Amino acid sequence: MAAPELQALACQYRTGKTLGRGSFSVVKEAIHLDSGLLYACKIINKRFMVGREGMVRNEVEILRKLSYGHPNVVTLHDYFETKNNIYLCFNLCTGGELLERIHRRSNFSEPDAATLVKTIFGAIKYIHDNSVVHRDLKPDNLLFDTPAEDAVIQVADFGLGKIMDEQQMYLLTEICGTPGYIAPEIYRKRISHTHPTLPTVGHGPAMDIWSTGVIAYYILVGYTPFDLATTDEKRAQVVAGVYRFEPEKYWDTISETAKDFIKHCLVVDHGVRPTAETVLGHKWLTTEGGCFVSDP
Ligand code: ADP
Ligand code: MG
Repeated sequence: MAAPELQALACQYRTGKTLGRGSFSVVKEAIHLDSGLLYACKIINKRFMVGREGMVRNEVEILRKLSYGHPNVVTLHDYFETKNNIYLCFNLCTGGELLERIHRRSNFSEPDAATLVKTIFGAIKYIHDNSVVHRDLKPDNLLFDTPAEDAVIQVADFGLGKIMDEQQMYLLTEICGTPGYIAPEIYRKRISHTHPTLPTVGHGPAMDIWSTGVIAYYILVGYTPFDLATTDEKRAQVVAGVYRFEPEKYWDTISETAKDFIKHCLVVDHGVRPTAETVLGHKWLTTEGGCFVSDP
């Protein structure tokens, strides 16, 4: 009879306003009644998870592995279940999603963009160093801890994440992610049904590098390099790595180093795409602030 105890745990919190919604969850502000501390509580209705119970277990396992280890990754503070729901309590990010911030500002200055992208890649390196692939990096899953301009960005939503042991490292074959951010190797698998000459390949941490390259482009100019639609034509563009630094009016003030950085991340062949560590060594992220626009 564990249920009454679990119910008691749920009673330690009172939920408030809704912060966001995902496919299977609603995230609400929650106050811990004893301490008065505020959290973000992801509430997952068990009814929606029938047959998908492993997904939440997987998310919790990853969060346990990564929590408290890096300032740019969300922290899971508490986890419990009631008869109907599963609750995941995180540190509260009051600054909203990167998506909203891009839309509010339309784009970031180049030095600000570089600083932000460097921070995100620092978190990705930590995640990959811990044998986890996020698999759904996009601006909706990157949150700011406060509304301040210099707020700390945090990687959230490990719902599609995967823990990999050494053998598995490059052998994932599931199709997952969000159109527009999905790496070519993932579509290549799907497209290979209709184009049997294309190899079916596995994928791993490199897919996070691709998605973050897309995010870097988005932060710089306020729109994505690949269409978010899911038509075969759009997918083919991702598979072939066809994108442009256009319209020119958005790109003419952006340095060649920044463009080179995007190209560095958006390498179609995931076998030679750089790792997070290599990306962090790129000139765009290592140059001192202030000299981005005046490339030699
Ligand atoms: P899903 O897996 O369903 O997409 P997420 O974990 O991405 O769920 O959460 C959905 C949304 O809830 C996020 O995009 C964000 O707007 C909000 N959210 C999630 N975690 C937090 C948090 N720790 N603080 C504030 N808002 C959050
Ligand atoms: Mg999400």
